[in-house]
Amino acid sequence: MLIKNWAMNLYDFFEKYPDEASCIEGFKNKRLEMGVACKKCGHTEHYFRKTDLKFQCKKCGNRISLRSGTVMENSNLPFQYWMLCIELMTLSKKSFSALEMQRMIGHKRYEPIWLMMQKIRRLMSKRDEKYTLEGCLEFDEGFFERGYNKDVIEGNKNKDEDEKTLNKRGRGSEKQAKVLVMVESEPSIEAPQKGKPNRKVGYLKMVVMEDLTSKSINKEVGKFVEKTSTILTDGYTGYSKLKEVINHHQVVIEPNKKKSAIIFPWVNRTISNAKKVLLGIHHNCINQQYMQNYLDEFCYKFNRRYFGDKLSDRLMIAALETTWY
Ligand SMILES: [Zn+2]
Repeated sequence: MLIKNWAMNLYDFFEKYPDEASCIEGFKNKRLEMGVACKKCGHTEHYFRKTDLKFQCKKCGNRISLRSGTVMENSNLPFQYWMLCIELMTLSKKSFSALEMQRMIGHKRYEPIWLMMQKIRRLMSKRDEKYTLEGCLEFDEGFFERGYNKDVIEGNKNKDEDEKTLNKRGRGSEKQAKVLVMVESEPSIEAPQKGKPNRKVGYLKMVVMEDLTSKSINKEVGKFVEKTSTILTDGYTGYSKLKEVINHHQVVIEPNKKKSAIIFPWVNRTISNAKKVLLGIHHNCINQQYMQNYLDEFCYKFNRRYFGDKLSDRLMIAALETTWY
């Protein structure tokens, strides 16, 4: 089923954008649709020069390149690479490594593809930075191994095996990225169904933290959570001062893992799924510096899980609006 959807989406993509010229045309039209303003005089009507891919202001003659002011501004890669990459990165919940993308696109060098993907991930981050969380929220910490191979990428404190490791290491070790996970989770009014969470999930945020002290946690909560919210946490001391920044804080101490997974269903699930995605693809090494980008990609897709095949279009619009350096 998934493969079929993928194939259909890719089929549609190549029918619409079979070559570089059609990608340039599509990209140009989308930019014009969104409005191009002259940097010199602010006029909004332009000619398009096919010879050097520039818009020329109809009033003052000033020119701007098709890529300027977009995520592609400093890139020499073909438009088709960017558009195909956006298509592929939004096709499924899974994430591609730059090496896979390089092979699929068929480019000689790894670095430009890696950079393109990081820029697309940053687009996703910037999109989600606009939203704050509200209502009832589950909080927890995830420990993501900045590991070197599959064997060491572990750290889900909700699994018994991992619990042992964690106990040895304390609340996360040097090798692990500490991640604060915040997810909107309203108690469901529907009758409970077996195996399904009894809470309705909304928006998700994952933030890589330097440490998990109450000061650091409160700082992120101040940035991303509405003051009127209710936060549900376990008894960890890092959450002890949450009331300084939000109105309601509910602590549930539940040593039984199974019961804990019922009380905090969405932090449990999202942490475990994010780990699977990262582990499946990026098991060679995720640098701390880029960990946030990978998590943002996961959250972006999670937060838009009902968009279906419209997601690549949304991301394309973001690509046109955002310059990333
Ligand atoms: Zn002008």
